Amino acid sequence: MLILLGPPGAGKGTQAQSLMTKHGLVQLSTGDMLRAAVKVGSEIGRQADALMKAGALVPDEVVTALIEARLEFEAHAPGFIFDGYPRTRAQAESLDALLAKHGMKLDHVIELAVDEEALVDRISGRFTCAKCNEGYHDRFKPPGQEGVCDVCGSTEFKRRPDDNAETVRARLAEYRAKTAPILPYYEAKSLVARVDGMADIADVTEAIEAILASDAQTAPA
Ligand code: AMP
Repeated sequence: MLILLGPPGAGKGTQAQSLMTKHGLVQLSTGDMLRAAVKVGSEIGRQADALMKAGALVPDEVVTALIEARLEFEAHAPGFIFDGYPRTRAQAESLDALLAKHGMKLDHVIELAVDEEALVDRISGRFTCAKCNEGYHDRFKPPGQEGVCDVCGSTEFKRRPDDNAETVRARLAEYRAKTAPILPYYEAKSLVARVDGMADIADVTEAIEAILASDAQTAPA
């Protein structure tokens, strides 16, 4: 059970994808859940839409309810990767209560440390396959053949409406004001491991794998 913590564009989603494939963990991304709610036009989606477009956080009770529903639905999963949740101290406390209720415990909070200046660049170039969701970037990770997904061969791609320079700045400000301050909460529980999120994608994955492997070595026989 782990949390990937870091500002928008730090690579949380990319790393979660690789952890899911390798370890069978289930990724719980409140951003993905909210985008799905906006797409179907549910009540939650209607509430969240304007806030997301402005780069502001959605209320704690809304995202916590989404997480709770998914935890219950996936109760038999081998473990979870929380991506983009918790984002406030209140969410961190709610997550603790939810995990305790389900007899689960957090193993790691992995902080993807990045240089904020690079993030606007990273985010404004990113896009995903509309079919399989593989992530790409105009400069850093274009598809091998232009316009064709490397993974599934689809020719349709999408970009997030909040991945523009202005909204990214608002999202970074929210991160600094509300999310970064939850690190001490987890540091006090000795759960935080810091990884250099500016390294190549494969090196970041390797660093995260090393943290997970250290568990296997220290686990009681
Ligand atoms: P993300 O995909 O994680 O970058 O999230 C995109 C947007 O969804 C954020 O800018 C927020 O508006 C909203 N959002 C996602 N997760 C949360 C959360 N845990 N708490 C509040 N708002 C969230």
